[in-house]
Amino acid sequence: MSSLHFDSEQANNLLAARRVVVKIGSALLVDSDHNEIRQPWMDSLIEDVVACKKRGQEVVLVSSGSIALGRRVLKLPSGPLKLEETQAAAACGQIRLAHTYQEALAKNGLIVAQVLLTPNDTEERQSYLNIRATLRNLLNLGIIPVINENDTVTTPTNQYGDNDRLAARVATMIEADCLVLLSDIDGLYTADPSIDPSAEFIPEVHNLTSEIFNMAGDSRSGLGRGGMRTKVEAARIALNGGCAMIIARGDVLRPLQAIEKNGRCTLFLPDCSPAAARKTWIAGSLNPRGSLIIDEGAAHALQQGKSLLSVGVKTVIGEFHRGDAVTVLSLDGTELARGLVAYNSEEAQKIMGCRSNKIESILGYCGREEIIHRDDLALL
Ligand code: GLU
Repeated sequence: MSSLHFDSEQANNLLAARRVVVKIGSALLVDSDHNEIRQPWMDSLIEDVVACKKRGQEVVLVSSGSIALGRRVLKLPSGPLKLEETQAAAACGQIRLAHTYQEALAKNGLIVAQVLLTPNDTEERQSYLNIRATLRNLLNLGIIPVINENDTVTTPTNQYGDNDRLAARVATMIEADCLVLLSDIDGLYTADPSIDPSAEFIPEVHNLTSEIFNMAGDSRSGLGRGGMRTKVEAARIALNGGCAMIIARGDVLRPLQAIEKNGRCTLFLPDCSPAAARKTWIAGSLNPRGSLIIDEGAAHALQQGKSLLSVGVKTVIGEFHRGDAVTVLSLDGTELARGLVAYNSEEAQKIMGCRSNKIESILGYCGREEIIHRDDLALL
């Protein structure tokens, strides 16, 4: 750490982050001439991941490359692919991609976990909660999740298509504080610098104005599906979730270290923390589907920042599904909090007043310990 400079906001954001999501584009990872992994680059990226872990940061990698690698395996020509070719290429490429990460991380004593997602998984509330819990659990166990879109099952009408937005969605789901998009360009310019020599570099963005979106244009890079437009859209998702985002050139060895050493990049800054953004979302924009009336002990625990346990719930009102927003009321009907409930109303009726260790015998399966986890609660 002593060799690092701390005088740039970009470096500080990355170094101070507790949880970092790094998006790796196909163009960096896969050599476009032979559609093979650039092993020295990958090894250097993993060195960066190890450095992050050593200083106590949690790291999630969102990696593209399955389709590019699969092309080689299936000997598909360059150029656009038919849907069934893309799906087959992704199936063949993803297993190789995951294997490469596994080998590279294992050499450094790290465990990898593969998670393949589709918009249904991240946008449908129940699967969203499941994926989020799984990712949090993996991170608690010190594992490095490597995420990609499940391109074998997605179709153009139901896909992210680019990993920029997928990475931003993952970052906000797990309340990451920094998202790094490693790209073949060093950041955002006022115009496309490859065609406009007067294009000026923008080091920092605070507000995503329509001007910023216009600057992004529709540029695309060779192997991957994203461009500057999808990166700025990713910034919108990230900033709404209170997560800072960095666009940086990844085609150097140790790309994260390069950012830390004051490398050139564009930093997008949110105006609140991930936790605050989440609580605002829960408190303000979700329609409550029911209510839980809780006893004084539980009300006191909530004030101290604890989760709501079934034992403190006295009455369940309304019909709701797992993951719905509910209001939490005191015995005299005062609204104390809003939160996303981990059980549906029928289950909540059955477990209210009972200790968490009885949930399994009452419901016949082992659910969450909390009826509303503290991260899913917004106190009023
Ligand atoms: N998910 C795609 C793949 O792994 C890439 C998407 C992108 O280029 O952003 O090949």
